[in-house]
Amino acid sequence: MLIYNTLTKKKEEFKPLNPPNVGMYVCGPTVYDYFHIGNARSFVMGDIIRQYLIYKGYNVKYVMNLTDIDDKIIRKANEEGVPTQEIAERYSKAFFEDIAKLKIKPADVYPKATEHIAEIQDLIKKLEERGIAYNINGEVFYDVLKFDEYGKLSGKKIDELESGARIEINDLKKNPLDFSLWKKAKPDEPKWGSPWGEGRPGWHVECSAMSMKHLGETFDIHAGGHDLIFPHHENEIAQSEGATGKPFVNYWIHFGFLNFQNEKMSKSLGNFFTTRDILKVHSAESIRLFFGQTHYASPLSFSDELLSNAEKALVKIKNFLETLEENIRSAKEDDSYPEFNIQDYYDRFEQAMDDDFNTPQAIASIFDLIRDVNKILNSGEQFGVTFYEDIKEFLLRTAEGVLGILPSLESGTMADTEFTDKLLQILIDIRLKAKQEKNYALADEIRNRLNELGFVLLDGKDGTKIRREQ
Ligand code: AMP
Ligand code: ZN
Repeated sequence: MLIYNTLTKKKEEFKPLNPPNVGMYVCGPTVYDYFHIGNARSFVMGDIIRQYLIYKGYNVKYVMNLTDIDDKIIRKANEEGVPTQEIAERYSKAFFEDIAKLKIKPADVYPKATEHIAEIQDLIKKLEERGIAYNINGEVFYDVLKFDEYGKLSGKKIDELESGARIEINDLKKNPLDFSLWKKAKPDEPKWGSPWGEGRPGWHVECSAMSMKHLGETFDIHAGGHDLIFPHHENEIAQSEGATGKPFVNYWIHFGFLNFQNEKMSKSLGNFFTTRDILKVHSAESIRLFFGQTHYASPLSFSDELLSNAEKALVKIKNFLETLEENIRSAKEDDSYPEFNIQDYYDRFEQAMDDDFNTPQAIASIFDLIRDVNKILNSGEQFGVTFYEDIKEFLLRTAEGVLGILPSLESGTMADTEFTDKLLQILIDIRLKAKQEKNYALADEIRNRLNELGFVLLDGKDGTKIRREQ
């Protein structure tokens, strides 16, 4: 299995440290708002990679951090006049709800920065002992010049960075590239006691401390969006390797941006849609299929049209599944099997995924199987149940188990139900207006037409209720 490693800038054979165990860390959300569909791309692709490793037989420990203390959280808390903890809790809860709706399987651990203050401080102390960190009046900085390999992940050189760096109004630092490990407490900000005085941790050091605590000082895979290569991941390497003297991570994976209007979708640019809102109109499967149709490292442009196309492609899968289920019920009671080699499709799926998780090709192998099996189903000839069960198992293991794109055969997705409810409410409102305007013909027509679709309207004291007749 080949993985493109940002650190070595080439595709490398994947060799875990302790097979079959694999440690994988993905930078998670800063919980100050609902996450957008650009963040969702990174979370979904991380999930798919993890599921494929499990498919291959690895025992994956998957860790995703929650940044629950930082400037953005503090700003939001101040705007609303509530404690930072309330903001972090509210949006952590929303994060878990939304990833579940996206069919992302829960991580094994979701470490929070505020619950790892001791580990973070230990790491800073080690850096200080090794002379790599310096404390100026309660602000502790990382001294990048003390880490020879600084820049090895991003390919940036310190002198070039220095000349390009904007001169910050922070004359405490020895070098403009030095970054905060421990931030001195400002009035009215959450703070923790420390050997350097009251304060709070910097963002980069959280991820170093939490990943090493849960996966060890050296672990297999670290992933995140492309924007995190520099400075976040570069700094994580400097901190971890600076403190332990050991390699920190063997494979670095970076997800390409989801762009909108030719720019990276981001909160600060304002060109974003929350995942929560997109899920009201599109199913999780269509979002996952849309992401999966592009390689994880390539940029991808967001458009509603592409999501709708994915939705249409899913209808094909759904129809196919329904036909398959019918065939399972009416299969012949013998072991007749058509000329069909399912192994070829597994091989194609695996070859694609083994080549740096090439999901577009893996998805193509699934649609090819559907096309080829449809020919057999449409021929009118029936076979023993094993054939149909084999096809179903293939879809369950690949399309569902790894990619999470198999639509459920129940009456509709969550998104469909919510959407239908909203449409129904519009009709009820119009009918009420018609009645108020004494247009009883229109009011009755709305009632009758909905009745034909199996909805019964019940007028009562508190307005109109709807009952679904099955
Ligand atoms: P944040 O909450 O901003 O720290 O981001 C959470 C994760 O989403 C990180 O791994 C980011 O790199 C990733 N991310 C942010 N914006 C995008 C985007 N437009 N496309 C893909 N990934 C993104
Ligand atoms: Zn991180």
